[in-house]
Amino acid sequence: MLRLTSITKTYPTPQGPLKVLDEVDLTLAAGESLALMGESGSGKSTLLHLAAGLDLPDDGSVHLGAQRLSALSETKRAALRRDQLGLVFQQFHLVPSLSVRDNLTLQARLAGREDDAWTEHLLTRLGLAEFAARYPEQLSGGQQQRLAIGRALAPKPRLLLADEPTGNLDEAAADQVLDLLQTLIDESGCALLMVTHSARVAAPMQRHLMLQRGRLMDMPQ
Ligand code: ADP
Ligand code: MG
Repeated sequence: MLRLTSITKTYPTPQGPLKVLDEVDLTLAAGESLALMGESGSGKSTLLHLAAGLDLPDDGSVHLGAQRLSALSETKRAALRRDQLGLVFQQFHLVPSLSVRDNLTLQARLAGREDDAWTEHLLTRLGLAEFAARYPEQLSGGQQQRLAIGRALAPKPRLLLADEPTGNLDEAAADQVLDLLQTLIDESGCALLMVTHSARVAAPMQRHLMLQRGRLMDMPQ
């Protein structure tokens, strides 16, 4: 479903070109969960952005299903993201002027796939049913991230890309968010590519890969 083939990505820096990804290959099958690990600065976010078509590789190809992302215009890539992907970041990126319910359904509405029963189910699963009329600023950090996860899953994407989704949370809130993520992924059959530098966070995932010096390596289980 997601296939990165021989991806290279170099950034220009004042000190000269910085090769962050060096002929990286990665495939993810439907419904699979994969933890992408590596130290800060190892290129995890870069890889995730390429997988989402938010940026393009210098060399190599990214396929989402049968579509090669670099063959699509920016508009078409945005449409593909809207139709097939859910995105969750360390920052929650909620809309402050929208209620919890409206934040939850925002992406699904944009994708034309609003489903009232699934919305109600998500509100309950997120532990936010009684807060549906509140606004994001009235929620805790953990609640806000649960809402951001719900928003990403509301349109029933095939693949969820999550970049350090628990990075801004304390351990208790992080555990709740991870439990929720795992439950919802299992329920929806959505594949998950999660970036984390925490072995504890990565533990429940099916596959574990490590980025180091531009290369992707299998992690011993
Ligand atoms: P990670 O998510 O693993 O912490 P990143 O993918 O964010 O790593 O960054 C990898 C390296 O590339 C870092 O050294 C970072 O400073 C550098 N980098 C990231 N984005 C840019 C950019 N737009 N321009 C220049 N350097 C960048
Ligand atoms: Mg990062």
